[in-house]
Amino acid sequence: MSHQTLLDRICQHAPSLWGSGKVADYIPALQRVNPQQFGIALLMADGQLYTAGQARTGFSIQSISKVLSLMLALQRHGEQLWQRVGIEPSGTAFNSLVQLEYEQGKPRNPFINAGALVVVDALLARNAMPVHTMLTTVRRLAGNPSIIMDEAVSESEYQHRERNAAMAWLMKSYGNFHSDVDAALRAYFQFCALHMNCVELVRAFSFLMNQGVCMQSGQRILSARQTQQINALLLTSGLYDAAGDFAVRVGMPGKSGVGGGIVGAVPGKFTVCVWSPELNEYGNSVAGLYALEQLADELNSSIFRGL
Ligand code: GLU
Repeated sequence: MSHQTLLDRICQHAPSLWGSGKVADYIPALQRVNPQQFGIALLMADGQLYTAGQARTGFSIQSISKVLSLMLALQRHGEQLWQRVGIEPSGTAFNSLVQLEYEQGKPRNPFINAGALVVVDALLARNAMPVHTMLTTVRRLAGNPSIIMDEAVSESEYQHRERNAAMAWLMKSYGNFHSDVDAALRAYFQFCALHMNCVELVRAFSFLMNQGVCMQSGQRILSARQTQQINALLLTSGLYDAAGDFAVRVGMPGKSGVGGGIVGAVPGKFTVCVWSPELNEYGNSVAGLYALEQLADELNSSIFRGL
């Protein structure tokens, strides 16, 4: 089956899944999204792009932005960053506070909220305009100078910031948070509110399949070693508390967000992005997971399969 036929088939099946999940409702601005939408984009290592459905409809990337902030923080701090944030799966929900107490303010990994907040804190330490840096970087990586951050979404999340603020303050009490908590939260919510589509995301994340070089801009983003580290972390911690299930069923590094997007990459082969707003109980897109499982099966792409 050709790649295009595969994506078209997956897309045709998506509506049969409507109603089995639920749109994120803890951020009021996200709750207003029409749940019955589906898009997919697949960028191959040879540069060929395939799309189906609403691959060019923008959505709130939410936690997918945690990969972008980690990328920027690694560019600036290198290996030192790992002294402040761990590399182990958490086994708890993305917004959990409990581990911070018995791990003395060091979050288990950069993809749970506490870890992402430390990463943003690290960015703020070396950059007076992190939001500007993020926006210009993402626009260049994705090849679209008009990508925006949705102010309504970030403001809505700021109004409901209690848990994230609690994490930042707790980490501050352990000496692992240095910037102004409010400024860091504002930046973090603005990163989460990046509004992008599947095509822009496969381009922006093409460095994950290409040893750290963005295929869109030709620019080296990270070293091959740092890219390998990010891919390993995405595999072990990229899908909230369901990373193990995703590794078994799909077998690729990936990151999901509560906006319904999931980005995945098979190093040396392709980057894929799928979006559909209804989420399962772990906060991962129902149709998105279905799509990636079908794709991985059909392309024999699980990284655990070998040749
Ligand atoms: N902005 C969200 C939060 O901090 C990110 C949620 C997500 O996509 O996991 O709650």
